[in-house]
Amino acid sequence: MIDLRSDTVTRPSRAMREASAEAEVGDDVYGEDPTVNELERRAADAVGMEAALFVPTGTMGNQIAGRVHTDHGQEVLAERDSHVVKWELAGFSQHAGLQVRMVDGDDRGVISPAQVREGYVAEDLHRPGTGLVCLENTHNSKGGTAIAKEDVDAVCEEAHDLGVPVHVDGARLFNAAAALSTPAPELVENADSVMFCLSKGLGAPVGSMFAGPEELVDRARRERKLFGGGMRQAGVLAAPGLLALENRDRLAADHENARALAEGLEGVAGLRVPTPETNIVLLHTEDTGHTAEEFLAACSEHGVLGVPFDEHVVRFCTHLDVSGEDVERVVERVSAAL
Ligand SMILES: *Cc1c(COP(=O)(O)O)cnc(C)c1O
Repeated sequence: MIDLRSDTVTRPSRAMREASAEAEVGDDVYGEDPTVNELERRAADAVGMEAALFVPTGTMGNQIAGRVHTDHGQEVLAERDSHVVKWELAGFSQHAGLQVRMVDGDDRGVISPAQVREGYVAEDLHRPGTGLVCLENTHNSKGGTAIAKEDVDAVCEEAHDLGVPVHVDGARLFNAAAALSTPAPELVENADSVMFCLSKGLGAPVGSMFAGPEELVDRARRERKLFGGGMRQAGVLAAPGLLALENRDRLAADHENARALAEGLEGVAGLRVPTPETNIVLLHTEDTGHTAEEFLAACSEHGVLGVPFDEHVVRFCTHLDVSGEDVERVVERVSAAL
């Protein structure tokens, strides 16, 4: 079975398992786990922020951002198809009492400074005030689009002009950095915080990082505790995380595989497969005469797994455990399935 459902399905390497077994550990709630402390330092450096916090999931990292940046009952501005809007159980409203004001990005999920200004709500007797702008890079639902630094900066500038901080949901920030040839610290240079996942293309079994200025990360640590995310000898999880950071350099290979996959599948029995920007390939099944679900059922019988994104849209993800040969096999199997 070739599993392209997500870049989260990778299994930890032998080296990761060994690092885990041998990790020096302590009680991280007391700040005494040296491996976690090292991961937090290295992760902060990786995104050019002052400090970072190890969190169990990207979702928790984003939810913590909602709480540290805003006052209960404010608004958060987010792109309509973003993860925080679609896939986090309305967490911003549950955890931070936020009302989400959705903005329609363009077909790549980019929102403009004008949309930020338009969506901004000034606090007064009747209106809650905008407490946060949340960006996503790469943008998952739009097909892993890598949002350029100037687009991120333009939104940050407008938001800051309005006195509103910006959090970047960078679950796949290093994919964006690789695709754009822009170092990750530059991509988030003007943002106020960023979350990135160790557990996706970087291949760690568990974990994400929330990064920002030290004072903000200190408060994030209290919020993590509130969420029940204070972990003890978490060095056994941080050790694979440190190795995952080393995998930043190989993400370009996933992108190449994704492009090869798209090229191989484009036009097969009516499939439409736009050239991907990173490791997420969207397949449009409408002209094959099949729904995404029907298409995936046939693929599964031929040994390929993906996920439905829409009635006629399927997502295939390339990752650490998918080789160039696997890509060729996927093209053969999908062709056979169709
Ligand atoms: C996966 C993902 C998250 C959440 O990460 P989890 O570790 O699965 O909670 C957040 N944002 C985006 C864009 C993602 O793709």
